[in-house]
Amino acid sequence: MVRIFGDVDIIVLPPSFPFGGMENPRLTFATPTIIAGDRSLVSLVAHELAHSWSGNLVTNSTWNDFWLNEGFTVYFERRIMEDMYGKDYADMLAILGYQDLIRSIDEESKADQALKLKLKRRHPDVGMTDIAYEKGCFFLKMIEEASGRELFDSFLKNYFLEHKFQTINTEEFVNYLNEKLLIPNQIAVNVEEWIYESGIPSNCPVVESKNFTSVEEQLAAFGSENNLDEINPLDWSTHEWLHFIRSMPEDFSNKQLEIIDSRFQLTQSGNCEIACAWFEKSIRCNYEAIDQNLEKFLVRVGRRKFLTPLYRALKESDHLNRAIEIYEKARPNYHHVSSHTIDELLGYSKS
Ligand SMILES: [Zn+2]
Repeated sequence: MVRIFGDVDIIVLPPSFPFGGMENPRLTFATPTIIAGDRSLVSLVAHELAHSWSGNLVTNSTWNDFWLNEGFTVYFERRIMEDMYGKDYADMLAILGYQDLIRSIDEESKADQALKLKLKRRHPDVGMTDIAYEKGCFFLKMIEEASGRELFDSFLKNYFLEHKFQTINTEEFVNYLNEKLLIPNQIAVNVEEWIYESGIPSNCPVVESKNFTSVEEQLAAFGSENNLDEINPLDWSTHEWLHFIRSMPEDFSNKQLEIIDSRFQLTQSGNCEIACAWFEKSIRCNYEAIDQNLEKFLVRVGRRKFLTPLYRALKESDHLNRAIEIYEKARPNYHHVSSHTIDELLGYSKS
């Protein structure tokens, strides 16, 4: 790719920063929650760098076309991770992304599951879901698989060069895609379905990960006998841990969570991704040993990506009162972006 913007610096903001990152040209803002001590969350840096092209060089015309910024950027993020750490590593990220997408499909209305949004008279923030990020990325991955990587890469390079410092909407992009890639190479794919319809089309690329299969086997071997020796996380990255926690069945008992927690100290994890996944699972399984650490986490961290699933889990597990008790302590430290979302989620109004 062409180097357009020159050097990029990253400034790490206080924990109340509501986003993972914000791709200001040449000066990315980042949440401190990406610092895990083992570089395991650096994909966010790749994401913000990729925005130098998708977002900052070629920009969505309206928020209805937000997926053009974020879908491309997640696609590039995964390609950068593949280049740096190999396919197995990138595949784990893709599967976690797919799990996030499934969750978004569950939560969003049918109309908001399309890549092209209709946000008229609504706040643009409503469209900042994993539909734009993950469905957008899987759409591009599908095109890559249909056309072959070499052809797709040269299409992408031309796309960014020919549209640099311009805005573009979804229809203009689709015309360009048809004209420059799909028609001349006789590639027939369901572009309209991906862009204008709800759900996940049946030709969504399927990603498999032997690392995750191993995690699932270890969790199964732990089984009802609580056989801790079967779990060997020595070479696990954050991603294996997330898959391990997400894969725990909803009917995991308190005893089982306690056995895992006392061996692996998940309640005390300094890795915010792992802590958030663990807290959410614990809330849903009524494992109350996390309560004080959960409160500390929610009071200290204001990143909306972590707040939303935790407050939602509290609410859905009949702990709305506890959610509001914590929220009243935490809310003064939250950015408006986060408090606006959580006010709505909890039905909270400051009286
Ligand atoms: Zn982004």
